Amino acid sequence: MTSLPAITTVAYLVASILFILALKGLSSPATARKGNLLGIIGMFIAVGITLVQPEVQAYGRIALFAAIGGIVGGIVAKKVPMTAMPETVGLFNSFVGLAAALVSLGAFHKGGHTGTIGSIEIFLGVVIGMVTWTGSVIAFLKLNGRVSGAPITWPGRHALNMLMGIAALALGAWFVVTHEAMPLYLTVVVAGLFGILWIIAIGGADMPVVISILNSYSGWASVATGFIIGNDLLIITGSLVGASGFILSIIMGRGMNRSISSVLMGGFGEGDLEAGDAANIQAQAAARGVNIGDVEVAAELMRGSREIIIIPGYGLAVAQAQHPVRELTERLEAEGVRVRFAIHPVAGRMPGHMNVLLAEANIPYDQVLEMDSINSDFPETDVTLVLGANDIVNTDALDLPSSPIYGMPILDAYKSRTVMVVKRSLNPGFSGIDNPLFYRENTMMVFGDAREIVDAMVKELKGAAVA
Ligand code: NDP
Repeated sequence: MTSLPAITTVAYLVASILFILALKGLSSPATARKGNLLGIIGMFIAVGITLVQPEVQAYGRIALFAAIGGIVGGIVAKKVPMTAMPETVGLFNSFVGLAAALVSLGAFHKGGHTGTIGSIEIFLGVVIGMVTWTGSVIAFLKLNGRVSGAPITWPGRHALNMLMGIAALALGAWFVVTHEAMPLYLTVVVAGLFGILWIIAIGGADMPVVISILNSYSGWASVATGFIIGNDLLIITGSLVGASGFILSIIMGRGMNRSISSVLMGGFGEGDLEAGDAANIQAQAAARGVNIGDVEVAAELMRGSREIIIIPGYGLAVAQAQHPVRELTERLEAEGVRVRFAIHPVAGRMPGHMNVLLAEANIPYDQVLEMDSINSDFPETDVTLVLGANDIVNTDALDLPSSPIYGMPILDAYKSRTVMVVKRSLNPGFSGIDNPLFYRENTMMVFGDAREIVDAMVKELKGAAVA
């Protein structure tokens, strides 16, 4: 008869392969659903085979906590809007960190996990777990606005961080030599504090990269847990999460022209600005020399175009305007206009945010182009329609060396013949800075909620077609 350890090894191998195939599937919108399904099957196999191991006995408690976690997770997943997905990912990362720290402390108290290697594993589990936990909680609070998006900095910050790093190393050496509780619990405090102080100093505009880095950390925290409880699958899965999060961080850093180290040093961005007075928006804009247009003019301009590029941003997600946008696209195509979408790597609030929204509205993938493939086409474009986007078309990134976003690649909307920007006011976007694109001669602002405006544009075009 085949033994349980042999079956376990094979099951873990199958699960690992399924996780790798899941990642591959998730790399393209067309295969993402299949990738997700493979991941789910892999996870079922992994959890199932783990539950039948002889060491696992407390079935009552496992069932209870799995039920509580499952119900809470299910409700959160159903309720959370797409716009709040990054902060949800941040919160989930925090749980992985907390679990790693608790497993490490549990292994320490259970005893048996001693010796130099055992102590190093426990120490690393506590350090990575605590930093991931507290750092992710702060990232969550920053993204959902409960803590200011502005970088909170103070003099001597880098020196303090350095001191904490040295203290952690000293505590690690103390713990490995003595295997006592005192240095381990001091490590819990130092690493936890470090996570808070580190992330609180990083500005909102860098949060996408931070979430991705913390996601990578949560993977490494799982690896540490895997070593402690001697579970190969956890080591493999953790490495996949750790490595893919790391690669994604690098890709996103490039998208914003920010090196990972400069992101991690913090202090970037101006944070939240005061919201403008809605009633005075038009007057304020006019006083600042902005060309203000309405839906009729906008629809007329689009009807007379051959090439239109739509740039979706965070505001499109907030307004949930993706379905009206598809209608608008179909209407324009019926009039012989070619419509394409330009996606900036950090448009919205999480990687792939815009792709997911547009896919949800069944906009064909071949009409949706990444920044590098479409940026050279703007000069030949009649109208660029910017829907609820701001930072990703901010020309200060090209022209103003003192700007916090200087050097970040942007979509070259300003090069097209006419730029139409749909947003509710002249308020800044996530990085909290003004956008000179709004004041250019070839720009027309159409103020309002993206969904309402696009709906009105569709109606206007339909009306014109009937007339
Ligand atoms: P921005 O945050 O720069 O701008 C979004 C704009 O949408 C705002 O200026 C707002 O203007 C407008 N808006 C909000 N609600 C509505 C609405 N209902 N209807 C119409 N417009 C609306 O978004 P971008 O997508 O241009 O840029 C993304 C920014 O977010 C970058 O700075 C990026 O670094 C950061 N970020 C990206 C993440 C990612 O992974 N993609 C994660 C976290 C942050 P108004 O109030 O006037 O309507």
